[in-house]
Amino acid sequence: MATRKAFEIGGQRVAPGTRKTVDVPVSVLSDHTPVSMSVHVVHGRRAGPVLFVSAAVHGDEIIGVEIARRLLKASNLDGLRGTLLLVPIVNAFGFLNHSRYLPDRRDLNRSFPGSPRGSLASRLAEIFMSEIVGRSDLRIDLHSAAIHRTNLPQIRVSPSSLETMALARAFGAPVTITAKLREGSMRQAAQEAGVDVLLFEGGEALRLDEMVVRSGVSGILRVMKSLKMVGNKGIAKPRKPTLLASMSSWVRSPAGGLLRLFKSAGEFVQEDDLLGIVSDPFGEVESEVYAPMEGLIIGRTNLPVVNEGDGLIHIAEIKQADVVEDTIDSLNSQLLADPMFDEDEII
Ligand SMILES: [Zn+2]
Repeated sequence: MATRKAFEIGGQRVAPGTRKTVDVPVSVLSDHTPVSMSVHVVHGRRAGPVLFVSAAVHGDEIIGVEIARRLLKASNLDGLRGTLLLVPIVNAFGFLNHSRYLPDRRDLNRSFPGSPRGSLASRLAEIFMSEIVGRSDLRIDLHSAAIHRTNLPQIRVSPSSLETMALARAFGAPVTITAKLREGSMRQAAQEAGVDVLLFEGGEALRLDEMVVRSGVSGILRVMKSLKMVGNKGIAKPRKPTLLASMSSWVRSPAGGLLRLFKSAGEFVQEDDLLGIVSDPFGEVESEVYAPMEGLIIGRTNLPVVNEGDGLIHIAEIKQADVVEDTIDSLNSQLLADPMFDEDEII
């Protein structure tokens, strides 16, 4: 059998059958501290796809960092076919400052494909595209909801690609949302470069959530299994197939005040169900908030202080009748059932 070539990145070579963390230089801070983007390369002995997993593009979305850490401990990677590139922290500036943004207050995920002569965000985007994204076949980008919000674990994909939809089904998150591409997002830039992207969303910024972490780790391993990058050992099928939704909308606050929400992510609601009540601080004005449609709650605010127009609950249009007894219980039991592969080695 012909030997595979070494994988070269950031001026370093990673031999087949080995793994290495490589620091790709990004910039130097105002106080002379160098900033790099650290890439862990697992270069399999045998040929196969190049999968790229990234987290903390938004620096405060730390759940993906934990998913990445656990993924690297999975024993399934020992006999890897192909190459896994893993960047646990894309936006080191934001990660250090517990912030979504870069120091110039730009959102990295609106700055793609970037330019070597652009803003800091644009330069980082360019390094990222040329060093990593452009060299992968598939990318899984890990996100959480923004600060003070939480998301049910979900995959977002472009509706156009059948192949990507098949990978989303393999991932087996509770829900898959087909969503249009956002201008300047990495998903758009990667797709234009011919790289399939699965965007994982789950949990809350600046918090860890065990079930979301498990859902992420299991999903990535299932995708790797479907691509024949890893064997079957310890990787279970999702208990239920992922639910598909193409439409979702935020229910917004009718007034400013204190919010009491009665529903959680993962619950089904019927049209006109009472979701919550917004009260003024004196309790004189109470505004009830009702569900505008039937669907599954895929996200909600955790901050009880709201202004008029704030997003309270994010509902995906899914009919419960189509799902047969899918309730929060079954979604939760699916998430609890996720760590089927050797948990001892993972935690
Ligand atoms: Zn994000």
